[in-house]
Amino acid sequence: MKAEWQKAKRIVIKIGSSLLIDEGGRLKDQWLSSLIGDVAQFVGRGCEVLIVSSGAIALGRGQLGLASGALKLEESQAAASVGQITLAHAYEERLKAHDLIAAQVLVTLGDTEERGRYLNARDTISTLLKLGAVPIVNENDTVATSEIRFGDNDRLAARVASMMSADLLILLSDVDGLYTTPPGDNKDAKHLCDIAEITPRIEAMAGSVGSDYGSGGMITKILAGKIATKAGVHMLITSGQIDHPIKALFDGAPTTWFHAKGNAVTSRKRWIAGGLECRGGLVIDAGAAKALLSGKSLLPAGIKSLSGSFERGDVVIVCDENKKEIARGLCAYNIHDAQKIIGHHSKEIAGILGYEGRTAMIHRDDMVLL
Ligand code: GLU
Repeated sequence: MKAEWQKAKRIVIKIGSSLLIDEGGRLKDQWLSSLIGDVAQFVGRGCEVLIVSSGAIALGRGQLGLASGALKLEESQAAASVGQITLAHAYEERLKAHDLIAAQVLVTLGDTEERGRYLNARDTISTLLKLGAVPIVNENDTVATSEIRFGDNDRLAARVASMMSADLLILLSDVDGLYTTPPGDNKDAKHLCDIAEITPRIEAMAGSVGSDYGSGGMITKILAGKIATKAGVHMLITSGQIDHPIKALFDGAPTTWFHAKGNAVTSRKRWIAGGLECRGGLVIDAGAAKALLSGKSLLPAGIKSLSGSFERGDVVIVCDENKKEIARGLCAYNIHDAQKIIGHHSKEIAGILGYEGRTAMIHRDDMVLL
C-alpha cells in the first residue's frame, strides 16, 4: 500500500456500468451493498468520498425495452433519464443503511470547462461534502448532445477529481490495471504497477481493452490519467469484479498507479496564479488587505473600486490602496453585479441584486496570495 493512498482524505471512486449492471440489465445488489459498506468505512474514518457512477443507460434501456446493440444518441439519452432514477435510488437506499445521505449531481462537459459553471458545481459539491453527504455524480446524459458531452465517465471522473482538488481517483474497472499489451489478445501481456508519466509509449499500450457496457475501454482511462495527474490527483485502476473492492484495494489488490504531478491544491493555485488570463482588477482597503493576508475571503465591503470586463469565474487581480498586487482569484460575480455591491455588507447583497448571491467576492479557496 503506497503511503500517499493512505493519506488520501478526499477520494473519488468511478464505477463502470459493467460492474454495477448484469447482462440482463439488472442492478448487482450484493456488489453495490459491499461497495457502499467500504465507502461507509472510509467516511467513518473522516474521508470525503465522491462516487462517479455509470449505469443509467444500461439500466434504462432494459426498462424501456430497447433492443441490445448500439443505441442512437437520443435513445441513450432517453434510457439515461429512466435509468438515472433507479440508479440514484439504489445509492440512496444503500447509503441510508449506513446513516449516510446520497446527493445526486448531474454535470455536463461545460460545467467543468466554463468557469462560471465550474464555480457553481465546485461550490455545491464542497457544500455537500461539508454537510456530510456522499455526492453521486453522473453525466447529465439527457441534455448533453455529442459536442457537449464527455460520453464516458472515466474523463468525467478525472475532471470532477481535479475540480474538487481530490487526493486520489480510483477507477474500478473490469480489468485490474494497464498491461504492456491488451491482455485479451496476448498471454505474454505484463501488468504494470507504477506509471510515473503517461508517455506516448504508455498510451500505445492502452490498445482497446473494453467491455460491452462501459463506453470507455482503456484508452479513456489513460486520458483520464492525464487529466488527473496533471491536476495533482493520483489515479489508480483496479478490478471491481469482487465484493468489497475498495477494502481489497487497501489490502493490496493489484493496481496500476498513475503518479500525480505535485498536489491538487498547489496545482489549482498555480492554475489560478498563472494559467489563466486576468480579466479585471479590484482595489481593496487596508482592512480587507489585512484580512486576506490572514487567510480570509475577500468580501464586497472591503472593495473600493474595480476595473476591466469580467464574468463570474474569471481571474481578477487584487491590489491594495497603493496599487500593489497582493492576490489573484476567481471572482464570484460578473463586473455589473460586482459594481453594485462593492462597499456593501454581504447581508445587503440580496436586496441590491434581487437574488441571494455569494457572501464573498473571492472565496479564499479560489484565491492565491502573491
Ligand atoms: N453516463 C453513462 C451512464 O450512466 C455512462 C458513461 C460510461 O459508461 O462511461 O449510463
